[in-house]
Amino acid sequence: MLEVDSLTAGYGNTQVLHSISLRVEAGQSVCLIGANGAGKTTLLRCLAGLLRPSKGHIRVEGKDVALASASARLDHGVTLVPEGRRVFTPMSVRENLEMGAFRRLWPRRDRAVAADMDMVFELFPRLRERQSQIAGLLSGGEQQMLAIGRALMSRPRLLLLDEPSMGLAPKVVQEIFATIRRLNKEGMSILLAEQNANMALRSADWGYVIAEGEIVRQAESDALTRDPAVRAAYLGL
Ligand code: ATP
Repeated sequence: MLEVDSLTAGYGNTQVLHSISLRVEAGQSVCLIGANGAGKTTLLRCLAGLLRPSKGHIRVEGKDVALASASARLDHGVTLVPEGRRVFTPMSVRENLEMGAFRRLWPRRDRAVAADMDMVFELFPRLRERQSQIAGLLSGGEQQMLAIGRALMSRPRLLLLDEPSMGLAPKVVQEIFATIRRLNKEGMSILLAEQNANMALRSADWGYVIAEGEIVRQAESDALTRDPAVRAAYLGL
């Protein structure tokens, strides 16, 4: 589904990512764990087309999209749930979901959008109850549900999630991760960046560890969970 090869990127003269390579197979759930400032967000922004890499390749289903725009990435089936949710706070829940389907509503209206909104409401019943409410008044957990729902409205084949657990109560984190696992079971490929390594490794098939802009380890999630260096540095064990 996704192949990243020798990707280098940064901001101005500061290089943040140093020759990153990783893969997500179709239908696989992959996590990217790393400390604060390791480069997770920078990598996901490159994958979503929000930051242009200085070198390297990003292939989605075999096509090199490294220089494609963010909207073109959506057309390739790649959608980002950004760090900090970034919901449109003055707009209603329903309007936020419609924004996620923007590419499907204009210039021609895709009639399946209404059914997809229903699918999001089925996944997150709380959003259905609050569909007319202003998004800025939702709780943090509800805003995260809305950010995921908004992403689903573009019908992604690869969902990129940037720290969905950030700032949420453990019970809500459980709920969000259960939904991510369900989406993966239904066939969606997942790339999840998390500081909460424990939760991330429990829900993913494969894990990468990123430190100072480099991939320093990769293995099946179970193997990473047993790795003494990973346990000490990321699992607090
Ligand atoms: P966090 O979990 O804190 O979000 P992260 O692993 O996602 O961390 P990044 O946000 O990708 O890490 O940051 C990687 C490095 O890039 C950090 O040193 C950060 O200071 C720097 N950085 C991030 N965004 C910018 C920016 N817009 N301009 C300049 N430097 C930036």
